[in-house]
Amino acid sequence: MHKRVAIVTGGGSGIGLAIAEKFTSNGILTVIVGRDENKLNAAKSQLGDLCFPISHDVSNLSTIPVLIEKVIQQFGQIDILVNNAGINMKKDFTTITDEEFQQVITTNLCSVFAISREVVKHMLIKGSGSIINISSMAAQYGIPRVIAYSASKAAVDGMTRAMAVELSPKGIRINSIAPGFIETAMTAVALNTDPERKSKALGRTPMGYLGQPEDVANAALFLASDAAKYITGVILPVDGGNAIGF
Ligand code: NDP
Repeated sequence: MHKRVAIVTGGGSGIGLAIAEKFTSNGILTVIVGRDENKLNAAKSQLGDLCFPISHDVSNLSTIPVLIEKVIQQFGQIDILVNNAGINMKKDFTTITDEEFQQVITTNLCSVFAISREVVKHMLIKGSGSIINISSMAAQYGIPRVIAYSASKAAVDGMTRAMAVELSPKGIRINSIAPGFIETAMTAVALNTDPERKSKALGRTPMGYLGQPEDVANAALFLASDAAKYITGVILPVDGGNAIGF
């Protein structure tokens, strides 16, 4: 049977791992990309035959065409792309260097553009595809001390809309998921060392608890599926109501 092929960047841990798990358990051949080979190999052992790890630093933009070509050579097609890899940096506004700002922008935004551009070239040939960008609440309201992260995620949302209007007529759907506060290594760093921030995050989350990576994975599986065939250009919050919390 012809399998769908997905790429999940940052698929070795956290939200990306949960998405890769959801995809493979639904029969989707899933290429996971990350820098840490140990993490990727552990994910491969967990997810089994349909999971294929590729060690690659997505912030190394000039090597992205080679990465995507490698996937095409090996698997023949790419039906789904989840741009999930991301880094955060929590620092006071005036202490952030240009290099630090640029590093976050390159990883969270420029790589999303470069990977999408290369993948879309192949999706256009097939006339179909689904791209899911993992955004953040940081794109929807102001969060202090994460300036580069917020800028990167707001730009990802803008890019999602612009790509959706340009590419949807050609059969490629582009959507974002905006997770609220989800229990992963990233939130552990951001919240566990900062109880005030944690209680603020939970305080404005009507459901009152952190989400699980699987909550985001369920939304990704839906957006990647034909059940979402008339959905494009949306920024879907998966956040326990955080975006509308008081
Ligand atoms: P994690 O830190 O657990 O995962 C991030 C993943 O990205 C890792 O697997 C990491 O792999 C990969 N990654 C980071 N930089 C690179 C790079 N340069 N090249 C390749 N892979 C890279 O965080 P989360 O799972 O929490 O975050 C996943 C996404 O969800 C991010 O985009 C984040 O901004 C977003 N998000 C998360 C929220 C949360 O509450 N957790 C809330 C809102 C958004 P490796 O280290 O092997 O490179």
